[in-house]
Amino acid sequence: MPVDTSARLNEPNEPRFPGGDLLSSCIILRTSRYEGLAMVVRRLLAIFAILCLHAVPLAAQNQSTKPKPRVVVVGVNGMELDILRPLLIKGELPNLATVIKNGAYGKLRTVPAPNCPRVYSTMFTSTKPEEHGVTGFVVGGITANTNMLKEEPIWSILSKNGVTVGMANVPATFPVMPVSGYMISGMLTRGKNCEDGVLCAPKLSEVEGGDPVYPKEMKAELLKNVGDFLIDCERMPAAGDLKGHEREVIDEWLERVQLIREQQTKLFDYLLTKHPTDFTWMVQSCEDRTGHWLYPIAPFNVGYNPAIDAVRPDAFPHQYVQFDKVLGTILKHIDDNTYLFVVSDHGIKPLREFEETDPHAHMDHEKTTPVIAKHDFADGDDVPGSFFAMGPGIKHDLRLMGLEATVYDIAPTILHIYGIEQPKQMRGHVLTEIFEASDKNVARK
Ligand SMILES: [Zn+2]
Repeated sequence: MPVDTSARLNEPNEPRFPGGDLLSSCIILRTSRYEGLAMVVRRLLAIFAILCLHAVPLAAQNQSTKPKPRVVVVGVNGMELDILRPLLIKGELPNLATVIKNGAYGKLRTVPAPNCPRVYSTMFTSTKPEEHGVTGFVVGGITANTNMLKEEPIWSILSKNGVTVGMANVPATFPVMPVSGYMISGMLTRGKNCEDGVLCAPKLSEVEGGDPVYPKEMKAELLKNVGDFLIDCERMPAAGDLKGHEREVIDEWLERVQLIREQQTKLFDYLLTKHPTDFTWMVQSCEDRTGHWLYPIAPFNVGYNPAIDAVRPDAFPHQYVQFDKVLGTILKHIDDNTYLFVVSDHGIKPLREFEETDPHAHMDHEKTTPVIAKHDFADGDDVPGSFFAMGPGIKHDLRLMGLEATVYDIAPTILHIYGIEQPKQMRGHVLTEIFEASDKNVARK
C-alpha cells in the first residue's frame, strides 16, 4: 500500500526559516544574545512553528474547496539549446517538440558562475545565492545542504497554502524537509561510495547523514515498488581511469547513466501514478555531467583529446533523445488542465581558448575528469539555461526573445498560478509574457 502523502504537515520539525513569513506571521520573538535564553527562545520557536504548521494548512484548506491547479516542473540540468536544436529539426525529440508547439519557450537567464545547487536554490527561493546561502556545491568547507537555506523555498510556501507538493531527485534538497506531500532528495545526497555527496550517487538504501525521503515511511514503499535506485547521476571517471581504456570506460559509464535514467523514469512514473500532487518537481542530472566531458566538439577546442572526444560524439546529444523518452512518460500524466514547465539551471558550452591557462578551467566536478565543456566562464559569460512552458492560458508556439525569463522568475510564476502573493524577498517576476492576455487568472503581475 502506498504511504498516504496527502496528509498535511504532521510531523514536528524545527523552524528553518526564522525570517520567513510563517514564523513572523505567527509570532514576534527576537533571539537573545545570551546563550541560555537563546536556547529557551529556540525551543519556543520550535513549539510555535509546530502549532503554526498545523494551523495554517488547515486554514488554507478551508478557504477553498475547488481543486488546485496542477503544475509539473521537469528539471534537466545543463540543458543546452544548441544541442537540442538539430535534434528538434531531425525530429528526434518528439515530446519536447509537442511542448514547444503547444507552449512558450526560450532561454532562461541564470545566476553568475552557475552550478546546480546554486541555481536550484535560487529557483526555490527567487533570491540571490548570497541571500539564500547555497552558493555552491561546498559552502564553508561543508557540502551544501538544506539546513543552509536562509530564505523560504517554494515547497514550504506552497505547503503552507494548502498546495500538495511532490519533489523527486531535485538537486540541493538533502536532507529532505517536511512538505505537504513527499520529497525524495537528489544531487548532494551523501552515502556509501559518495561520502561527500558531491557529484556522485548513493543508492536509496545506502544514504547516510540525513533522510533522503519524506515522509520517512515512504522509503520502504519506494524500495519495494521502485527498487533501490541511485539518487543522483554517476560520478564522472577520472583521467587516470580513462588512460588506455577510453572506449571501455566511456561505454561502461554511459550504460550506468542509462540505468540511472531508467530508474528515475520508473520512480517518476510511480510517483505520478500513486502519489499525484498539486505541484510536482522532478529532475534529471546526467545530461549535464555527460556534457562536461563528452560534449560533441570538433577540433580544435581547448581540451580536445581525440582519444576521448572522438569515441562517442553522439553520447551527449543521445542524452537528450533519452530525456525525451522520460518526458514522454511524464506527459502521459499531463492533461489539458495541467501546467508543465521544463527548465534547466544553465546551459553548457565548450571550453574557450583563454581558459586554457586559467587554473579555474578544468576544476569542474571532482577536479579529476578531463572536462571539455562547462557553464561558468572566467569572462563572466554565464551560459543561460532553457525554459519551456505549456498549460491553460499559456500562449502556443511562442518563442521568448532575448533573455526575458530568468531563474528568479520560476517561483513567482508558480506561486501566481496558485494565486499566492509573491513574498517581498523574491527578486523575480511573474512571467506574464507567456500567458494569454485574456487569462485574467494567471496573466496579472
Ligand atoms: Zn555542470
